[in-house]
Amino acid sequence: MKRRRNAFHIEHIIPLHRNGSDELENLAFACDGCNSLKWTHIEWPDPESGQGVPLFNSRKEEWSVHFAWNDDFTTLTGLTPEGRATLDLVKMNQPGLVNVRKALIAIGVHPR
Ligand SMILES: [Zn+2]
Repeated sequence: MKRRRNAFHIEHIIPLHRNGSDELENLAFACDGCNSLKWTHIEWPDPESGQGVPLFNSRKEEWSVHFAWNDDFTTLTGLTPEGRATLDLVKMNQPGLVNVRKALIAIGVHPR
C-alpha cells in the first residue's frame, strides 16, 4: 500500500525534545519542505555574520519586522539576523519556489 504524503504538517516551533509543548502557541502550519528543513532546529547562523541566532517564531513575532518581498514579489529578503537565518535554513528563495511564485503572479493569486 502506497503511503500518502501530507502536503502540510503541524510543526512544533520549539521541538518536544527541547521542552516545547503541544499547545497552540507552539504549533505552526508548515509545508513539507519547510518542516523537513527546519527539523529540530531552533537557531541557525545568520548568513551575514555567521552567528547563530533564533529562528523566526511566527507565534510571537511580526512577519514584516523580519521579512520583505523584493520588488517583483518573487524572492524574500531577511531584514534581521533572525529573518536571514530562517530564510537560509528553509531555502525560501530556491529556484523552484521562485518559479512557483512567478506562476502564482501570472494567475493573479500572489501577492495578496
Ligand atoms: Zn514552506
